[in-house]
Amino acid sequence: MPELPEVETVRAWLAPALAGATLSRVELRRDDLRYPIPVVLVQAQVGRLVTAVRRRAKYLLIDTAPQPTVAADESGASALLIHLGMSGRCWLESDPVDPPPWRKHEHWRMWLHTPQHQHLLRYQDARRFGALDVVEATTPHRLLVGLGHEPFDSAFNGAWLHASTRNRKTAIKTFLMDATRLVGVGNIYASEACWRARVHPLKPAAKVGRAAADRLVVGVRDVLREAIAAGGSTLKDFVGGDENPGYFQQRLDVYGRGGEPCHRCGDDPDAGDQRPIVRVVLLGRATYFCAACQR
Ligand SMILES: [Zn+2]
Repeated sequence: MPELPEVETVRAWLAPALAGATLSRVELRRDDLRYPIPVVLVQAQVGRLVTAVRRRAKYLLIDTAPQPTVAADESGASALLIHLGMSGRCWLESDPVDPPPWRKHEHWRMWLHTPQHQHLLRYQDARRFGALDVVEATTPHRLLVGLGHEPFDSAFNGAWLHASTRNRKTAIKTFLMDATRLVGVGNIYASEACWRARVHPLKPAAKVGRAAADRLVVGVRDVLREAIAAGGSTLKDFVGGDENPGYFQQRLDVYGRGGEPCHRCGDDPDAGDQRPIVRVVLLGRATYFCAACQR
């Protein structure tokens, strides 16, 4: 399913094209995805100006404001909220010659224009676990309240991770995946971050020391940053085909490598054995680690 790096890559793609554009038309082919779509509220966004495209956790937020010509008291800032669910794909086509035919499982499209360009934002989602909603700036949105730190925010740091895991018996990998604490760390990234930090993923969170907490923060950020970097080169596959989008192609050090030698210690000539990567199941999720170098 699309994870934080995929959503961040879509955001980075949309932002320069859409910032400053006017939403000129919204076409909805259904009135629900995972949740009902507030059709009246979505259509009320037509005519507004896009001020920014942001990401919060795995939600895309297209910020809008009234046109400068509209009296300021008419309506304030709001945002279109888009979630890709399990199989959603959101992409932009600029200056299409004709409106392209609707694809199978394409549920909505939005037309946006600037003085120079006309953009078509399209959304396709075979399993319909995605979402389209409107966020009013003055009202906390139910999907956004209670979300934990962003991995690239300074508030996510070793001191915070260490302090918030004291007395927590849960496995550190499970803690990292708890979106009420920290967003954006899916199952694959959690295993990879623990490997990079040389921390055993099943270690009780309370036993993670202060230095290991620092390493975990670096590990989480590095694995996500590399996935985002890889995303630029695989975005075409992500949006282009009819297959479900998957994780960006990225070198994985432990995930899916059960029985294979560890990339860090597996070819150590003094090790004497292959130090294979171990696969276990933690809370129903495949979890990989090196039994030799992760403590
Ligand atoms: Zn190892």
